[in-house]
Amino acid sequence: MIDTAVRQPEPTTFGSGWMSGVLSTALGIVGLFAVLCFRFSRLLTVPELRALYPLPYIRALLHLVLVGSFVLGTISVCLRRRKVLGMAGITMTLVAALLGGSRVPVEGQVGRGPFLGLDWFVLNLIVYSAVFIPLERLFARLPEQPIFRRGWRTDLAYFFFSALFLQVTTLLTMKPAMVFFAWAAHAGLQESVASQPFALQFAAILALTDFTQYWIHRAFHVVPALWRFHKIHHSAEAMDWLAGSRLHLVDVAVTRGLTYVPVYVLGFAEAPLFAYVAFVSIQATFIHANVRFRFPLLRNVIATPQFHHWHHSAEREAVDKNFAVHLPVLDALFGTYYMPRDRWPASYGLSNGEPVPPGYTRQLMYPFRRRST
Ligand SMILES: [Zn+2]
Ligand SMILES: [Zn+2]
Repeated sequence: MIDTAVRQPEPTTFGSGWMSGVLSTALGIVGLFAVLCFRFSRLLTVPELRALYPLPYIRALLHLVLVGSFVLGTISVCLRRRKVLGMAGITMTLVAALLGGSRVPVEGQVGRGPFLGLDWFVLNLIVYSAVFIPLERLFARLPEQPIFRRGWRTDLAYFFFSALFLQVTTLLTMKPAMVFFAWAAHAGLQESVASQPFALQFAAILALTDFTQYWIHRAFHVVPALWRFHKIHHSAEAMDWLAGSRLHLVDVAVTRGLTYVPVYVLGFAEAPLFAYVAFVSIQATFIHANVRFRFPLLRNVIATPQFHHWHHSAEREAVDKNFAVHLPVLDALFGTYYMPRDRWPASYGLSNGEPVPPGYTRQLMYPFRRRST
C-alpha cells in the first residue's frame, strides 16, 4: 500500500500546492540570481546593461520577489505531501537573504573584462516566460502539452547557458569575420551603407542574413559531419518557446559566425543591426512556440510557427524542408518549401528515430562521440 502511495503522482490542480511550489521555486531562483548579480556584478553582469538598471526600483521588486517566494513556499509546504518544491523556494530565499537580500551592496567600481550574463538570463527568463507562457496557454496548438513537458530541463539548460555565455557567443559571432575578412571591408562602401535609411538597412540585413543562413542551415542538414551537430536541435520532441534554445554550441558558432561575414563587410549601422538582433531572437522563439496562429495573409511573407513546425516534423515528406528563418520565399525559390494549408505535423523530432541522449552535457559531447552518425 505504501509503495503505491509513494509512486502515485501528486495532483497538480489548483489547491494542491503545486502552483505555489512552482512559483515559489521560480521566484526563489530569480531572487537568488538577482542578489548574486548585485554581489558579484563585475563577474556576473553584462557591462552594457549595468548602466541601464533603475536600481531603487529593482531593489523594491527584489524585495517583493523574495517575500513572494517565501510566502508561496510556505503555502506549498502546508498543502503538499512532497515538500521539495516549497522547500526549494524557501531555501533559495533564505540563501538570498543571507547574502544581503534586497539590500545587498553593489560590488565597487566595475571595469570591462570577462563576464557572465547571469542578469541577461534572469531578464530573458522573466520577459520570455511572462509573454510566452500565457500566450501558449491561451492559444495553444496542442492544449494538452504541459509547460513542464518532456525535455524541458534540457532546453532550460540551453536557455541558461546561451545567456550566461553571451560574451563568448558574441565573440564567436563577430571575431572570425573581423579577423578573416578585414581585407574585404572598405570604408567608403561601409559609410554609404550605414548612411541609408534605417528601414532599408533593416530589410537588407534581414534578406542578406537569411540568404546566407538558408544555405548554412541546408548544409547542416545534408553534410553528415554537420548534421551530427544540428540534429541536436531536431531532437526536440515537443515544440514550445523554450524548444528553440536547443542548439549545439558549434551549430550556433558556425551559423552565426558565417552569417555575420556579409553584415560585417558591408558595415551596417548599429541601430538597424541591434533592431535585427532583437527581431531575430523574438522571431526565433515565436516560430517554435506551441501556438495555433496561422497568419493567412503573412504566411508567405514571413516565417510563421506553422512554417517552422513543419521544419521540425518527423513526417518523411517534410524532412529537409523550410530552412529559412525569416523569408519563406527562399524555400520557394530553392525548391524546399513545404506547407500543407490546414495541417500541422502529427509529431516532432528525428524522422528515423536516431538516438540523441537527453541532457545538456551529453548532447554537447554527442557529436564528438565516434559512434554517433
Ligand atoms: Zn534544421
Ligand atoms: Zn527550429
